Amino acid sequence: MKLSDRLSKVKSSPTLAITAKAKAMKAEGIDVISFGAGEPDFDTPDFVKEAAIKALHDGATKYTDVSGMPELRDALTSYFLETEGLEYKRSETIFSVGGKHSLYNAFMALLSPGDEVIIPSPYWVSYPEMVTLAEGVPVILETKEEDGFLFTAGELAAKVTKKTKAIVINTPSNPSGAVYSEETLKAICEVAVKNEIFVIWDEIYKDVYYGEGRLRSLPFYDPAVKPYTLIISGFSKNFSMTGWRLGYTLADERIIKGMSVIQGQSTSNPTSFAQYGALAALQKGPLHLTEWLKQFKARRDALLAGFENMQGVTSLKPEGAFYVFPNISGLFGKKWRGEALKDSYDVTKFLLEEARVAVTPGDPFGSPGNIRMSYALSMEELLNGIDRMNNAVASLD
Ligand code: PMP
Ligand code: GLU
Repeated sequence: MKLSDRLSKVKSSPTLAITAKAKAMKAEGIDVISFGAGEPDFDTPDFVKEAAIKALHDGATKYTDVSGMPELRDALTSYFLETEGLEYKRSETIFSVGGKHSLYNAFMALLSPGDEVIIPSPYWVSYPEMVTLAEGVPVILETKEEDGFLFTAGELAAKVTKKTKAIVINTPSNPSGAVYSEETLKAICEVAVKNEIFVIWDEIYKDVYYGEGRLRSLPFYDPAVKPYTLIISGFSKNFSMTGWRLGYTLADERIIKGMSVIQGQSTSNPTSFAQYGALAALQKGPLHLTEWLKQFKARRDALLAGFENMQGVTSLKPEGAFYVFPNISGLFGKKWRGEALKDSYDVTKFLLEEARVAVTPGDPFGSPGNIRMSYALSMEELLNGIDRMNNAVASLD
């Protein structure tokens, strides 16, 4: 029997696939080093776990409001007021089952068939697929490696048409780790406001930043963009809560209402006791991050140093997130097992089979000359992985 047409239009997630493959190989006893998973290797902080355990013992095992518990939504508005100086009402917030679910609901609430969404490449693999699922049209705005994988406001304006409904901005970026400057963001805000397009502002890596100072939410840079902005984030990265599945959106009340209707007819509320963990997280804030960032930064630098002597591999220096996105196009044409490596899939396969190192190909991120390596693994494993890559690359004809 034929299944939905929708299924022929979307691809399954390659980031989840490579992670699953590396896990399966490990379970079979194969010694594989995984640079695949986009999830921090740190444990969720104890105080967050304890809050959820207490909630379970106290009987928080029932449905909550679809959009999340009122006290959690209020904690979110207080958090944004304190940390960003941005004022949101409870009715302008919604909690969902992970940032991924927040994004999905957002596209479902915003898009009518044929609406265009501008997605700068390289992009996180799920954006175009989600837009397609919501019957929108992904319009890719290509950025260049020599420009640091960043676009300008002028390049954005050139992509805007009458059908443009939204643009997605993810800074720091998955996969490149690129970070937009304040000046560029201000110029982007002007384009968004002038053309009345929504900005899906995915700030899930906002706290994972290695530069001076700290990064802020978009409306901090230009208050005029606030009515057009959907701030989307979650607890997966800064609190290492990937398995808890909690994300949130702050946006205009009408958008939040729309997202709540979709959520109410699909998942209902995110898990009740997980919400108590999130409540504790928001009340205390990500204080543990100073230590995590120190470790992430040391790993990033070790990886970059490792590429220096690797023939055919170069990399920009990512300023945030926990990925490097090296250019491996210098390996194309080199021969492995008698055949020339021709694309990022071939290089990924070669690294997995020859070096027992799992990485994600750049193609599904819209960047065929690159591979993504997540450095959410111990320094010891990372150095071992680099050694293996070096040996494998050096053995190519
Ligand atoms: N946005 C980006 C850019 C991501 O890399 C991810 C993947 N973790 C998410 C959103 C969603 O994360 P989660 O659903 O775990 O909150
Ligand atoms: N976002 C992470 C990644 O890019 C986790 C996997 C996923 O949800 O795609 O690897």
